[in-house]
Formats: sequence, C-alpha cells, structure tokens
Amino acid sequence: MSVKVKPDICTGCETCVSACPFGAIEMKDGKAVITDACTMCGACVEACQFQAIEKTIEATGPAKDLSAYKGVWVFAEQHKGSIASVSIELLGEGRKLADKKKAKLSAVLVGSGISSKAQELIAHGADAVYVCNDPALEHFNDDSYAAVLTALAQQHKPEIILAGATAIGRSFFPKVASTLYAGLTADCTMLDIDDATGHLHQTRPAFGGNIMATIVTPNHRPQMATVRHKVMKPAQRDDSRKGEIIDVKYTPSGPVRTKVLKTVDELTETVNICEADIIVAGGRGLGSRKNFLLLEELAKVLGGAVAATRGAVDEGWIPYSHQVGQTGKTVCPKLYIACGISGAIQHVAGMQSSETIVAINKDPDAPIFNVATYGIVGDVTEVLTEMIKKFREVRG
Ligand SMILES: Cc1cc2nc3c(=O)[nH]c(=O)nc-3n(C[C@H](O)[C@H](O)[C@H](O)COP(=O)(O)OP(=O)(O)OC[C@H]3O[C@@H](n4cnc5c(N)ncnc54)[C@H](O)[C@@H]3O)c2cc1C
Ligand code: SF4
Ligand code: SF4
Repeated sequence: MSVKVKPDICTGCETCVSACPFGAIEMKDGKAVITDACTMCGACVEACQFQAIEKTIEATGPAKDLSAYKGVWVFAEQHKGSIASVSIELLGEGRKLADKKKAKLSAVLVGSGISSKAQELIAHGADAVYVCNDPALEHFNDDSYAAVLTALAQQHKPEIILAGATAIGRSFFPKVASTLYAGLTADCTMLDIDDATGHLHQTRPAFGGNIMATIVTPNHRPQMATVRHKVMKPAQRDDSRKGEIIDVKYTPSGPVRTKVLKTVDELTETVNICEADIIVAGGRGLGSRKNFLLLEELAKVLGGAVAATRGAVDEGWIPYSHQVGQTGKTVCPKLYIACGISGAIQHVAGMQSSETIVAINKDPDAPIFNVATYGIVGDVTEVLTEMIKKFREVRG
C-alpha cells in the first residue's frame, strides 16, 4: 500500500496538510510531500479537490488455488520438552474444526530431544505429527522456528494453522504469515467454520473488548490464528489413539540472527496465574509494595496465585508476568479476588470469565462491581487482614 502526491497536479493549496490527522504532510517548494509519519489512512486523498494524491493497494502475493490447501495444523509449543497446556487446548479446538471440515488434524513439534512427545499429541487428538528434532532448535528462536514452520506449510499446504498467543506464538507466527502471504488473526477467543463457504471464522475482542469482531480470510491460505491460553477447553487424552509421526529435517533458511545466552526461570513461591484455580489480584488501590505483600499472604493461605493490574505493575510492586488483561494474561480461575482494582475494560478483558469474582474497593461505584459476583465496599488492607485471619482459622 502506498500514498503518493502527483507533483505535476499539486497546486500547493495546503488543504491536505490540515486534513492529515497524523501531521504527515509537509510543503516543500510549493508542493505537498508525504513523510514517514504517514499511516496510509487515506484522509488526504479525499481532502484534495485536485485529485493530486493517490492511494494504491498493491496485490499481496500470487493468486492462490485455495482448493490445494487441506487440513488443520496446530503448532505444539513445548518448554524443556513439556507440551504447553495452550497447545493441548488448541488440539481440542483443532479437532473440532478438522472434523467439521472432514480433514486431518496435524501437530508441528519443534525442538531438541522432543521426539518422545509426539505420541502425547496424538493422544490429544492429532492424526499426524511433524517432528523437527535438532540440537540447533533447543532454544526457541524466531528465525529457526519460522523457517521450519514456513517450509512445512509451503510443502504440505495446510488450510488452517493455529498457535498459542504466547510470547513464542506472538513472536514467530507473524513472520511465518508474512512469508506465506497468509492472513493472521491474533488473540482469538472463538473459532468456527462457515457452513456455506468453509472459511475459518476468527473471532476476537476489538476496541478494548467493547465489541467482538469476526475476521475472515477469503482469498488467501493458510488461515492463521493465535489463541490465548485458557480460552478453549483442553483436548481429552486417549492413549489408545493411533497416528502418524513424520520426522522432518531442519534446514535453516538463512542466518539465525539471535543467540540465547542464558535462560532465567522466574522464581515464585505461589502458583502460576494461568494454571491457578484461585487468584488474588491487586491494583493501585493497595497503595504500596508493603500492602501488596498482603496479597501474597492471602494467596499462600488459599493455595492460590498472585496477579495484578497494569497499574500495580507500573508501580513496580510485581513483575509484568503477573499482569492480567488485554496486554497481559487471560485467566479463568474458579475464584478471582480483585483487591483495590478499578475494573478498567483492559483489565476485565483478562479475568471476566472467572467462575466467581469477589471485588474489594472503597468506591461503591467502581466498575469492577459490574463484573463481580460478590462485592465488598471497604478499605482493602483492612478487609485483606481480616480475610487472612479468618481463612487461617478455618484452614487451621
Ligand atoms: C492499550 C492499553 C492496554 C492496557 N492493558 C492493560 C492490562 O493488560 N491490564 C490492566 O490491568 N490494565 C491495562 N491497561 C490499563 C488500564 O486502562 C487501567 O489503567 C488499569 O487497569 C488500572 O489499574 P488499577 O485498577 O490498579 O488502578 P486504578 O484505576 O488507579 O484503580 C485503583 C482502584 O483502587 C481503589 N482504591 C484506592 N484506594 C483503596 C483502598 N484503600 N481500599 C480499597 N480500594 C481502594 C480505587 O477506588 C480505584 O477503583 C491498559 C491500558 C491501555 C490504554
Ligand atoms: S490538497 Fe492536493 S493540491 Fe492541495 S497541496 Fe495537498 S496535494 Fe497539493
Ligand atoms: S494517508 Fe493519512 S496519514 Fe498519510 S498523509 Fe494522507 S492523511 Fe496523512
């Protein structure tokens, strides 16, 4: 896509300068010039009464024979040989999509020393597993992982490829999609097949979670989507399932530009927020790092995990890995205790599916009470201190 001024037609009237919402047009020698700040919104094209500005949309890649693309693939993310739970959820969803399309479900497993995990993917619904096992793939790397998935997709032409919306999926999936000229929808919360056209419906929150947008990729294949952890139900394990395991040779497609020097595991005494059944979450209303420690105490008593809003993360009370929301993690525990949290839409987007939500806030009109099952209006430190005391008594 490009936006260009035709200098021979431009009269220098400057209408486009004020029409551009991004300040991306400058006048030079009496002619309009579009700068790097241009977002290609097209507002100037309409503003110019002399038709001196042109917006062109180039064809994106070669036309494709869509019927050549078959099957549903799941990128099976693994960490030190353990399959990530989001991949098991994707196998459950992928199985449904594949059954609806009467197609095969395949998984792609990349790493080093991971071959024995292929059977686990078959037990969770895969009909076939492509295993790329090479010491050079021990640590995740955008370049090498993208090279493996791109080459496999070019060779076998899957119709749909799914990955977790994790740090890994978000990092290398766009690279694969752009090389394949494929459509990619990030952070989907629902997937389905259109009965009439057979296209993948990719539904995700838009405009800060205020609307749900369903995105379709009608002209390109594969259709690629990332899905957040805990949004889909995990596949049931059936160890009697049989499937095909296909070994794939790793061939780098070019230089690998990054090198992992060291991996540091974050140590936490409480449970991982994505897996936890009980979450005690805190916001800016806690007032200080010292008060924030009360959450850890309550989480320990309840056997839960500590989460936070972006407000609390910005204050430096807890690392980003604990952030819940639009730019953090999506969680779905049985119990979510929201302490001193206002309930901004960006936070609620990550926790509203919790089974029971208890909110503590001193402001009775705080928006968090709109999603809460139970609300406690009061000072959060006083309520937390009392809760810790009571739960300790109950739990002995
Ligand atoms: C693009 C974008 C992405 C974002 N992504 C995220 C995200 O992923 N996650 C996220 O959380 N936010 C996100 N935000 C920020 C979000 O908009 C809010 O600013 C943030 O969630 C507010 O955090 P908070 O509730 O801790 O703080 P505040 O909004 O400051 O709320 C503090 C609350 O504590 C209450 N309170 C104060 N003192 C007490 C007390 N003594 N006792 C009881 N209650 C008290 C107040 O009444 C208030 O309701 C994002 C914003 C943008 C623009
Ligand atoms: S509005 Fe059109 S004619 Fe006027 S300066 Fe801009 S490009 Fe030139
Ligand atoms: S396309 Fe939009 S951003 Fe670019 S110059 Fe025109 S008005 Fe400005």
